[in-house]
Amino acid sequence: MEELELYVNKSPYVFKGVQHPFTSARLVILGAPLDSTSTYRPGSRFAPLAIREASLSLESYSWRARIDSESVATHDVGDVEVVQGDVKATLSRLERLLHGLSKAGKIPIILGGEHTITYAAAQGLGRPAILYFDAHLDLRDEYPLGVKLSHATVARRLVEVLGGGLVFFIGVRAACEEEVEYAERRGVKRLTSWEVEELGSVEVAKRVREWCSKFNKVYVSIDLDVLDPSYAPGVANPEPEGLKPTMLLDILNLVLDRRVVGLDLVELSPPYDNGLASIHAAKILLEATAYLSRKLTTPLSS
Ligand code: MN
Ligand code: MN
Repeated sequence: MEELELYVNKSPYVFKGVQHPFTSARLVILGAPLDSTSTYRPGSRFAPLAIREASLSLESYSWRARIDSESVATHDVGDVEVVQGDVKATLSRLERLLHGLSKAGKIPIILGGEHTITYAAAQGLGRPAILYFDAHLDLRDEYPLGVKLSHATVARRLVEVLGGGLVFFIGVRAACEEEVEYAERRGVKRLTSWEVEELGSVEVAKRVREWCSKFNKVYVSIDLDVLDPSYAPGVANPEPEGLKPTMLLDILNLVLDRRVVGLDLVELSPPYDNGLASIHAAKILLEATAYLSRKLTTPLSS
């Protein structure tokens, strides 16, 4: 792929320290260190490297998936080169890259970066339905004032492009009134963090799977602030009342299937971390790639 040579920089470490050949890898790891619109605690540009480093310290065996993630065929291509000061140009590079990877039959696993990158992913991967794990709705029309495409407005732009029926928020718990009203008006599905807690992972997964069954292509976006900040303190916008890591991994284990065309993990901010958020980010990705790898060979059940 020509774009890989033009726009991608190699990273000093590869995810989990294991590199399968590009040609045989269905899952391709790509860093997207865009960190331009962060308003509170910037630093997500350092996240792809921090996640890769943290991944080296974890056990590679996924107990839930009963698969050793070292045997999961991933290839880490490195990081997309950010165009300094130009969010749109960076996103269009990322979109082209993801489109190329998808055409080559790959499932991109993207290490953010700020949440804005999900817009490029949705465009590059053929406008899939989106499972949006986040503390926030990201449905503001502008934020900061006058900025239409940022980490705080990205879901609004997605709903405009995809329609409200193609976005499902999970774990949300922080919004302004305008965002909640907009979500209701546009029929955007959502489960708050307290509803997730009350329902439990099995019921949540059942509802999510029912929703996903209407679509051929599903994209999974995980804003790390969906976890409680006591687990993952190093995020750009920490928000209390978050999910437990076990809840998130249980849900992912039950919902990731062959419909998934891509996945991202965004908003980790290493300068504000004590090491824990990076470990959680790496763990989520190790597990998610193991679940995906197992499901790629399993027929769809619904
Ligand atoms: Mn968030
Ligand atoms: Mn977000």
